[in-house]
Amino acid sequence: MQWTPALAAHVPRLATAFAIPRTIPSKRGVLLSFDDGPHRQGTPAVLAGLARAGAPAVFFVVGEQVVRYPELVREIAAAGHEIGVHGYRHQTRREWTRGLLAGDTRRALDAVHEAGGPRPRFYRPPHGVFSLGGLRCVRSLGLEPLLWSRWGRDWEGRATATSIAERATTGVRAGDVVLLHDADHYGAAGSWQKTAAALPRIFDQIAAAGLEATSVRDATENRGRLGGPIRGPQSPVALAVVP
Ligand SMILES: [Zn+2]
Repeated sequence: MQWTPALAAHVPRLATAFAIPRTIPSKRGVLLSFDDGPHRQGTPAVLAGLARAGAPAVFFVVGEQVVRYPELVREIAAAGHEIGVHGYRHQTRREWTRGLLAGDTRRALDAVHEAGGPRPRFYRPPHGVFSLGGLRCVRSLGLEPLLWSRWGRDWEGRATATSIAERATTGVRAGDVVLLHDADHYGAAGSWQKTAAALPRIFDQIAAAGLEATSVRDATENRGRLGGPIRGPQSPVALAVVP
């Protein structure tokens, strides 16, 4: 995996330049997002935690995992959560041609469709890496890019339920999108257990801030598409590098 922490510092500026949403328009809502699944144990554990809190979320699923666990895609959707796509192969897109990216994204959409899932609205690239061509490509496929404004760093081996909850919620604000993972396919082994264990504390902290977990549907009702027209430099740009 490519790991370039320095790039993370550029995320807000570049995401703004590319008009890629990192937050949602909500006065009280916080959106929890779970990447890298489905996972045989991690997805049910996270679904159970969300159900206990009565909270909605968005799951950015990976096509190559969708074909392994199609029933979990149906479970996510049946529980009322949104399904986004996180590519078919979980690889950095920085050097990919438009044709490769389009093929991979279509394959991921097909996998969700064949699993019986709803048509995804959102796209988040593996490692958070977008190129301008890639951004145009996913938009041409009818997908909206969505990054994140906070994360739990739950993919790290040293993460604990407490550290995940603290990172995810310290200073949390309305409209924040929180990046978490319901799978350890591309992160530290067993990381989903700590993520699932962090959920009660995350919900407590969100409530303590006077906020609530919301769905992107509720947040964008009557507001149309997130983000705006694509601007920015013509060269490929990496926005972030995370699992
Ligand atoms: Zn990922």
